[in-house]
Amino acid sequence: MSATLGTLIKQVQPDWSIEVFESRTAVATESTNAWNNAGTGHAALCELNYMPEAADGSLSPAKAIDINEQFQLSRQWWSTLVQKGILGDPSTFINPTPHMTFVRGEANVDYLRRRFEILKDEPLFADMEFSDDPAQIAEWAPLLVDRRSKDEVFAATRSESGTDVDFGAVTHQLFDYLVSQGAKLHLGHQVRKLKRRADGTWDVFVRNLAGYGKQVVNAKFVFVGAGGGALSLLQSSKIPEISGFGGFPISGKFLKTDNPEIVAQHKAKVYGKAAVGAPPMSVPHLDTRVVDGKESILFGPYAGFSPNFLKKGSWWDLPGSIRAHNIGPMLKVGLTQWSLEKYLAGELMASRETQMNTLREYMPTARTADWEMITAGQRVQVMKKDPEKGGILQFGTEVITGAEGSIAGLLGASPGASTAVYAMLGVLEKCFPEQYAGEWSKTFTAQVPSLGTGLNGDPEAARASLAATSEVLGLSRRAVESA
Ligand SMILES: Cc1cc2nc3c(=O)[nH]c(=O)nc-3n(C[C@H](O)[C@H](O)[C@H](O)COP(=O)(O)OP(=O)(O)OC[C@H]3O[C@@H](n4cnc5c(N)ncnc54)[C@H](O)[C@@H]3O)c2cc1C
Repeated sequence: MSATLGTLIKQVQPDWSIEVFESRTAVATESTNAWNNAGTGHAALCELNYMPEAADGSLSPAKAIDINEQFQLSRQWWSTLVQKGILGDPSTFINPTPHMTFVRGEANVDYLRRRFEILKDEPLFADMEFSDDPAQIAEWAPLLVDRRSKDEVFAATRSESGTDVDFGAVTHQLFDYLVSQGAKLHLGHQVRKLKRRADGTWDVFVRNLAGYGKQVVNAKFVFVGAGGGALSLLQSSKIPEISGFGGFPISGKFLKTDNPEIVAQHKAKVYGKAAVGAPPMSVPHLDTRVVDGKESILFGPYAGFSPNFLKKGSWWDLPGSIRAHNIGPMLKVGLTQWSLEKYLAGELMASRETQMNTLREYMPTARTADWEMITAGQRVQVMKKDPEKGGILQFGTEVITGAEGSIAGLLGASPGASTAVYAMLGVLEKCFPEQYAGEWSKTFTAQVPSLGTGLNGDPEAARASLAATSEVLGLSRRAVESA
């Protein structure tokens, strides 16, 4: 998020000085690291949670279209940055990977078919295919079908335009660019607190973790892009906008295989349906990953619990985040989210064989010996005050801005890194409304053509944008090569 924001700022204000403080000794070692997230370019092509069935059985594509539009901003901006030489060879960070949805049972097949019937007419989803024919699904993803019972009813959709993204690689390349443009990147420097001066500027209190030296840096604008560390820093700033917010950490875990025989048989990201009552981020998926040019398969996520807000955080993160203003909403969430608590308890008690059996629902031939469990990143789910319910758990991201737009930060995880461009343009629009409405928007619109207009309402524009970004990012060419 910080790399994206810094690079956006450099496009419009190359004269502004930017300093970045990162507590670890390298960038992108937390959630953004390739192995700490699933690398899905979230475009709602395969994730059912963006198009749930309403109580009356109706389906609306609005949320799915919204998420897809947000991802198109990322595709367009990354294409521009490749053309400008800011991002390198696209195969280092984005790879064509069809997005599939796979469901079992009559009711789920009926739902998937109805979802397909609606989405296939939406321009951004025009390449979606549906099948309930085992032979066709086996052609798309053989591991889903191999040795599955002949009596089972199942169906799948497939979108060729899906992607796998190494967000860690994007981040490294953006920081290389920022440093080359004069930004100062201080690794091993932890921000301890933020304090506003009477003149409206911010004092950023920083500790050098190697030398234990302390410094105070003064800034006109601060972006708290600290992932799981953002809540405590925003709390230290004492802006009223953070009042009522809390966080609940859930660790992500994945089964991973590098076995070349298995990897060669699966070229897709296959999302299923979350169990009843389970949260959206628990949706199981069997995923091709491409990291450093090497393919692997991930299955998960499984959930774990640690009170740390960062993978390399402290057990004090959760208790230390409790304040008088958020204890009410947090307790309310704790007393009402029984389905989440039941889901978490089930996950924590699951044996290795139970975990493998979940994988076998997607890949019946899976052998325990081929798969190792890896621990991914920490997701800090947002809990916030709600006027009606007292407190609610929110699964999306929340941008907090305050102090006349002189500070902003990002809480939450999903849809995450895929929509960093949308989220960070939103930060700039909120915090610098005059500049944004003036010269900046001309530059941003030149770099991100569908900004402010969208694509889905204009079939020709949608087709042209998908084709152009696919061309620059080498997606269709590499898809053909790998076929
Ligand atoms: C299991 C899992 C799966 C996911 N899957 C996907 C996916 O498939 N697609 C997708 O788009 N998104 C996914 N996400 C979400 C995505 O990874 C995040 O939304 C995104 O990476 C967050 O980026 P960030 O820059 O906000 O945070 P981070 O990448 O966590 O970066 C925050 C940085 O701030 C540093 N920091 C923290 N505190 C301090 C401090 N006090 N001082 C200095 N530095 C500090 C940290 O060391 C870290 O480097 C997933 C997340 C998880 C956990």
